[in-house]
Amino acid sequence: MSEKKSICVFCGSSGKVDQAYRDAATKFGTLIGERGYNLVYGGGRVGLMGLTADAALAAGAAVTGVIPKFLEDYEVGHQGLNELIITDNMHDRKRIMYEKADAFVILPGGLGTMDETFEVITWTQLGLSKKPVVLANVNGFWDPLVALVDHFVATNFAKPENRNFIQVADTLEGVFPFVTEAPVTHGKVESKWV
Ligand code: AMP
Repeated sequence: MSEKKSICVFCGSSGKVDQAYRDAATKFGTLIGERGYNLVYGGGRVGLMGLTADAALAAGAAVTGVIPKFLEDYEVGHQGLNELIITDNMHDRKRIMYEKADAFVILPGGLGTMDETFEVITWTQLGLSKKPVVLANVNGFWDPLVALVDHFVATNFAKPENRNFIQVADTLEGVFPFVTEAPVTHGKVESKWV
């Protein structure tokens, strides 16, 4: 087990997005390396995923990508990583990313990013996970998601305390206090679903 903590980043695979989001991905990858963390992510070299990985590598982080076989070509698996794990399917990919992470940070992304995020949050809700999940709310990108969770609470589909399953950081630097407080859990199988 690495002595460094690992941050698992979920983010968009699209590169055709506002430059502010691209810059945020690069900056966050740099911060991961500079602050002494390793990166776990979905293994692609495209979009914000690739930008985050490249910046983390350049800043000295060890980077592990986890990509399902069928997506390796489609997403153009990143060949410059310290480790690229090829899985049989999407579920194994998520399980391995989960096991290797100490915390999850969500940069701007789309439907796939949401799937990954909600899977972890629902594990938290079911008591299967205690690893922090932090939205990097770049330019208020995640405000609609926060509003949706508030709507769930207002309509009694979620308990008020369930808001705490997602931490919101308004700056990239503001992500790190949540990660720093998290215990080291990577490499440990703590969840009942594995
Ligand atoms: P996106 O946010 O849609 O650009 O997707 C970002 C990440 O989510 C990529 O690593 C995708 O492989 C993954 N992803 C895309 N679609 C799905 C899906 N239906 N279920 C789970 N993960 C997905």
